[in-house]
Amino acid sequence: MDLTAKLTILERMLDIYDRFVGEFELACEKYCAHCCTANVTMTTLEGCRIFADLETSGNLKHLETITRLSHPDRFRPRISINRMADICARGEDPPEEHLNPEASPCPVLVDNACPLYGVRPFGCRCMVSARNCGQTGFADMDPFILTVNDVFLQHLEHIDAHGYTGNFADVMQFLANSENRRLYTSGRLGPPPESLVSNQPVFVLMIPPDHRARIQPLLKEIRGIQI
Ligand code: SF4
Ligand code: SF4
Repeated sequence: MDLTAKLTILERMLDIYDRFVGEFELACEKYCAHCCTANVTMTTLEGCRIFADLETSGNLKHLETITRLSHPDRFRPRISINRMADICARGEDPPEEHLNPEASPCPVLVDNACPLYGVRPFGCRCMVSARNCGQTGFADMDPFILTVNDVFLQHLEHIDAHGYTGNFADVMQFLANSENRRLYTSGRLGPPPESLVSNQPVFVLMIPPDHRARIQPLLKEIRGIQI
């Protein structure tokens, strides 16, 4: 599948997700940015979408900002979500991850607003809360939203199975290099650099038993995407 087709599927999945999450009462609003930390992760496909948007809008300067302001202790996943699902399905323990909740803010956040809002990673889009996190100190998320978020993350990795996953800043720094973009676009990426991890297809979805029936219509929509 070429890059254009993958980007089209990504857009359709995001449309499905926005319709789903739009049915919940949420406290999320413009300039509420407690969730805009340096720990957001994404796939190379989402990074390509952001890069294309920055290039089209003449805002590639944000790449320099991301490099300059990226937090030194940002979250760097050791495995992708699909790999973690496989390990858990085998009854084994996934490797321990190091996440510093104080690693903040996101390097592109300006005056509590996101300059990439329309093309922000799914990891940002799926961060929602029924109550303002600034008042509670945590995100109050319906457990079903958490399940749906995992399922979307797994499918987003699946459509980018030949790419990588990593911290938002590391993926953007990787894609800032034109040779890396050329290799990614031609589907010829080799092993990932130390800062990123390889993606893989979905083999097992992480859906708790009590959500299996409720999630079926959404799974049908995702699997029904035609391009
Ligand atoms: S998840 Fe929390 S911090 Fe982020 S926009 Fe929603 S309420 Fe605000
Ligand atoms: S990319 Fe935008 S929405 Fe995501 S964490 Fe950064 S500022 Fe917030």
